[in-house]
Amino acid sequence: MFKLEDFPLPFAASALEPYLSREAVELHHGKHLAGYVATLNGLIGGTGYEELSLEEIIRRSARDGQGQRIFNAAGQVYNHSFFFRCLGRDSPAPFPRRLVDAFGSWENFCANFREMALALFGSGWTWVVEDDSGHRILNSANGDGPVAHGQRPILCLDVWEHAYYLDYRNRRGDYVDAFLHHLISWSAVGTN
Ligand code: MN
Repeated sequence: MFKLEDFPLPFAASALEPYLSREAVELHHGKHLAGYVATLNGLIGGTGYEELSLEEIIRRSARDGQGQRIFNAAGQVYNHSFFFRCLGRDSPAPFPRRLVDAFGSWENFCANFREMALALFGSGWTWVVEDDSGHRILNSANGDGPVAHGQRPILCLDVWEHAYYLDYRNRRGDYVDAFLHHLISWSAVGTN
């Protein structure tokens, strides 16, 4: 069984203002993520999934024909936890050298990431992942994500409307720009 406390915000709820409001952060973590944790617990209780780690639940349910609801809930718990750990207002760090090598420049990276996030239709996530072929920017739909596909997540942005509607209404591009320029914890990304 999982607890919301297993996935704490690594910053105060007001720490991301003015780019993400305290209200939006509290709602996102304390209601949305909490809801996914409760749903996941309800689905795995008394099943063979109960003793597995979150990543093991994602990988096994992805192959389980009956596991779609567990996959969605576990994916959303993992994705939100990862997303919150990518956020911060720590002092500006240099754009990581490995990402410069992969994307050419900071400006080129931002343009590619923004284009990918704006192209996502429906609900999902925009990621920087690493796999055997190097670093890539890609989207995942709904609760899907890199863990189910053998890729290592480096950075992610929640592009579900609930992530930005309170602060940005329908202006997804402004939300993506705020993320890229003000909300990424590059020290956390470096650890990833
Ligand atoms: Mn979300």
